[in-house]
Amino acid sequence: MEKTLLVATNNSGKLAEFRALLRPYIGKIIGLREAGLQSPEETASTFIENALLKARHASAASGLAVLADDSGLVVPALGGAPGIYSARYAGPQASDQANNNKLVSMLQKFDGPYSAYYHASLVLLRSEDDPVPIIAQANWLGEIIAQPAGSHGFGYDPHFWVSEYQCTAAELDPALKNQISHRGKALKILLSEIQQLSI
Ligand code: IMP
Repeated sequence: MEKTLLVATNNSGKLAEFRALLRPYIGKIIGLREAGLQSPEETASTFIENALLKARHASAASGLAVLADDSGLVVPALGGAPGIYSARYAGPQASDQANNNKLVSMLQKFDGPYSAYYHASLVLLRSEDDPVPIIAQANWLGEIIAQPAGSHGFGYDPHFWVSEYQCTAAELDPALKNQISHRGKALKILLSEIQQLSI
């Protein structure tokens, strides 16, 4: 029988990315919307706990194996902010622009350069009670620059300077970003783990 994997996201871009990467290994992949489910409130204080919480909630509600992710930007000069609050740094429902404006204004109090990294935590739960969740985490190092550049990507990408390519994440080709980003790297780690397993 074909196995179904539920990816606990409402973000269609992320779902497409996960589908492309997981297709060789998993028969059928659906998102929260297709499963008729909502995302739970992210009440934990770390990325990994929030990813686990999302995965467990979706698995309990669907009875399916679930892949969940949680990601964000970490700026050591700001004590790790925006961190797990990256999507809502400037307030609930904040736009990317509002979050970016707040980030730049908070950093003005400090001397640059402002090192930063994106983080992604991924969790694969084979069932709600899976005692051994498969976990993969990765970071992507960069610097925050005050002047935005580029129109690809999302979130903080126009301010995230990638020194290896001498451009911002928003100026990178999206396929290249997917290869080198926190999410891309974490997925590769997860894939190497699940290749050996039957979920
Ligand atoms: P989530 O993984 O959808 O919960 O993302 C949380 C937030 O972190 C996003 O809304 C963005 O603000 C930020 N973020 C995560 N990954 C990226 C990225 O690749 N580029 C830019 N911002 C990101």
